[in-house]
Amino acid sequence: MTNSPLTVAQNLAVSLDYTLRLNDGEVVDSSADREPLTFLQGHGQVIPGLEKALVGMMVGEEKEIVVAPADGYGEIQPDSLQLVPRNTFPSDMALEPGLGLHMRDSDTGEVFQVFVAEVRPNGVLLDFNHPLAGETLYFNIKVTELRLATPEELAHGHVHGSGHEHNH
Ligand code: ZN
Repeated sequence: MTNSPLTVAQNLAVSLDYTLRLNDGEVVDSSADREPLTFLQGHGQVIPGLEKALVGMMVGEEKEIVVAPADGYGEIQPDSLQLVPRNTFPSDMALEPGLGLHMRDSDTGEVFQVFVAEVRPNGVLLDFNHPLAGETLYFNIKVTELRLATPEELAHGHVHGSGHEHNH
């Protein structure tokens, strides 16, 4: 009897080395200087294009993939700018264009990132587009580890490990 090696599938904890480039070759993100990215496959923790490309890959396998905006961070939505009152934020907070802010959706509880587009006399213009919206993404990926997720990880929908912090 032979054991077939694990390949990437729903509910496995996947560790990944990756480099992300844009169309012009600029590297915008890479795991090179830190720990591999570890996530729970099939739970929307990484962009859909990455999950799709990973299915069936084995530990040690490398791939170059091209992800269209629709499978990446979405297309740019021109109506995703919103002016909010300055007092939405702490008065001592230094707000400047390009600053990334984490906000929580009051309906879903989901945390998302927005960016300050402009600071105006009458408020702060926020850009709800992801900074990589509209970009085609060029990834070099390598699977470094695969393991079964624990029941607790599956219940939470994310992996637990070194550096993982939460209070539930
Ligand atoms: Zn958890």
